[in-house]
Amino acid sequence: MKILLVEDDRKIGQFVKKGLEEVSYVTVWARSCAEAEDAMADGGFDIAILDLGLPDGNGLQLLTGWRKKNLATPVLILSARHEVDDKIAGLNLGADDYLTKPFSFGELLARLRSLVRRHSGQKKTLLEHRGVRLDLLKHEAELDGAVVPLTQREFALLEFFLQHPGRVLTRTQIAEQIWDCHFDMETNLVDVYVAKLRGKLRRANETEPLFQSVRGVGYKLA
Ligand code: CA
Repeated sequence: MKILLVEDDRKIGQFVKKGLEEVSYVTVWARSCAEAEDAMADGGFDIAILDLGLPDGNGLQLLTGWRKKNLATPVLILSARHEVDDKIAGLNLGADDYLTKPFSFGELLARLRSLVRRHSGQKKTLLEHRGVRLDLLKHEAELDGAVVPLTQREFALLEFFLQHPGRVLTRTQIAEQIWDCHFDMETNLVDVYVAKLRGKLRRANETEPLFQSVRGVGYKLA
């Protein structure tokens, strides 16, 4: 799951980003309207969390723009308790939910999961391939029915593979998706993490490995 977090408050931003990454949601943090626009143009977000008071404008303007462009990404507005008018305006402009500050991370997570469930027509929340099962809502991975504990990066990496079975994923594609990194410097990390996944998802008498190396390019979920 990939989330756009639009929030200029450093403390709240760090708190939310850290929490989301702990449950393996890849999180891109934008601190202004301009950064949010750039990130949204890159696309691929399953949900956006939108603060309203931003240094270079109002989150509602961003939301209006996105909906005008027919961007269907579900949006959860985060804002201060006194901004009741903004709440109504936000929902009228096409926000999908609203959470007032201060909030607990547990509540935010529950709202996000409920939003994804409601939009699950567009996004599968249960991925399966050759006995590997990934439940994005419960945040659980299984191999042949047995739960496999994964770190957040491993979970995100497995999710990316399961979204593209049989397709060669380059190291760069993987690094961009999992580390939100646009440089080659992280690509050896990709090898390390694929090796970790292989180790955790290996069957005793495996004939065809799940993750195949494609020499000089990357990996493929076979
Ligand atoms: Ca703010």
